[in-house]
Amino acid sequence: MGYNLRDRKLLNSRGTYFGSSGSDDESYDSDPDFGTPARRPRTRRSMPRAAGIRIPGSGGENSSGNLTGNMERMWSGLHPRTSEHRRRLIEINRRRKRTFSRVPDVAITKRTVLSWLISMGVVSENEEVWYLDAPWGNILGEGKVTREGIVCMCCSRLVTVGEFEAHAGWKTNKPYQHIVLAESLLSLFDCQIEAWEEKEEEERRKFNHIQPAPKAVDTSDDACMICADGGDLICCDTCPSTFHPKCIFMENLPQGDWLCFYCVCKYCGTARGILNKCSQCDKLYHCKCGGEKLDLMNRASTLFCGKTCKKIYERLERMVGVRNDLEDGLSWTHFQRRGQPWTASCENDEYTRVECNSKIAVAWQVMNECFLSTMDRHTRANIVQSIVYNCGSNFTRINYSGFYTAVLEKGDEMISAASIRVHGKMLAEMPFIGTRGRYRRQGMARVLQNCIESFLCSLKIETLVIPAMDQLTGMWIDKYFFARVEDENLKQALSGYNVVMFPADVVKLHKTLSMRPDLNQAPPEDNED
Ligand SMILES: [Zn+2]
Ligand SMILES: [Zn+2]
Ligand SMILES: [Zn+2]
Ligand SMILES: [Zn+2]
Ligand SMILES: [Zn+2]
Repeated sequence: MGYNLRDRKLLNSRGTYFGSSGSDDESYDSDPDFGTPARRPRTRRSMPRAAGIRIPGSGGENSSGNLTGNMERMWSGLHPRTSEHRRRLIEINRRRKRTFSRVPDVAITKRTVLSWLISMGVVSENEEVWYLDAPWGNILGEGKVTREGIVCMCCSRLVTVGEFEAHAGWKTNKPYQHIVLAESLLSLFDCQIEAWEEKEEEERRKFNHIQPAPKAVDTSDDACMICADGGDLICCDTCPSTFHPKCIFMENLPQGDWLCFYCVCKYCGTARGILNKCSQCDKLYHCKCGGEKLDLMNRASTLFCGKTCKKIYERLERMVGVRNDLEDGLSWTHFQRRGQPWTASCENDEYTRVECNSKIAVAWQVMNECFLSTMDRHTRANIVQSIVYNCGSNFTRINYSGFYTAVLEKGDEMISAASIRVHGKMLAEMPFIGTRGRYRRQGMARVLQNCIESFLCSLKIETLVIPAMDQLTGMWIDKYFFARVEDENLKQALSGYNVVMFPADVVKLHKTLSMRPDLNQAPPEDNED
């Protein structure tokens, strides 16, 4: 008996999707999570300055230079750098926090980690900060936190976090760990962790676990994985994915069970025996089918289907959080949300992890300004948000775990952000790229686009695909040299990948990547082939 196609009606009519890749789109959607009216901030009593704390330029009646006197008594018994200590500080800060309100998100003019901390209510605007050379050490600089940066007391100028450290005459690569709130002595690094642990941040990064309705007979998806439409679909017998036969170029319906391309070995197409999942391309494979000495190459935690995926993965990971400086004070970096450390990782890793997560939170605010909130019709997953936070799912088509976010910054300020995912040597996708309203029409998206293409080139990725709204298709073709996906061979090749799907009125464009020497920058990548 042959396979019976199942007619699946979509729950909602088409139109809940918002087409992407519109860097010039003018729509503005304020962050609904911060829509509550701000309470009037209560004037906070400033903390009496402890005797013995030396303030640069204050004359220095007491030059012992350490936290002594009241402050020391206050904090004695708290051993620095233990989780218990941090927990107590956070607890104190939480109580304190109730005395001031969050800043409404629409009032944010610059998107920085500081503005995120303020909008999350973890740091109050104009809060006094000190730069300490070591935990509980000397105060080397004084300033006030604003949404735009830190107002440095030594020069009364608005500076970045890194510049504030330089003005304090110190150099570490971890300024957030050395800048503390004068009132609570909680470091900005601790504040980053606290903001990340807030419930609304936690909500944004949750795994999209899609469960069928109770007593549901049919647990398959209602939308084709390739074209997002409903209708007569062939259902995978292992996972909930469904497809139009024509969308996967299937001419004859299979006899009996059928498994989709994410449920079989990518080499032999069967599902017998032990299958491993590649950490880079997310496809399953048999070790023996890989053709290379996969067992020798792979370690237990990260498995790869082959040498190419391993190389791509390692290069992407190595560059996470590494800032690439460009002209005019601009820089670009790619980030990815980092989970809890698996092992007792070193302090460096922890700093990078917290930095990545903070930048992802800021990138989400930028994306949320650029794109309307888009719900998946069937699963109700928030697509843009889940992509920025690289949320996984048991539904392949909304499994966004492999996404990275590339951002363009000027100083500490985030200007543009883009989502990129590499599926393997053949293909990368970029479903979203957006620039904040006040920076549009200044070529910012182009700078970021060039950096991304150049970086993908260095990874030797062959093709980049993007979805484009109809009215922007011309721009992508004329100015960025993309082309419509029309070639049947390419269409067929693309149908084997989990590319973010958009409704039919969004045009799929592609570009063959090649090294262009005139691009703005080349990332510091070695050539080790
Ligand atoms: Zn200064
Ligand atoms: Zn389809
Ligand atoms: Zn499947
Ligand atoms: Zn196989
Ligand atoms: Zn792979």
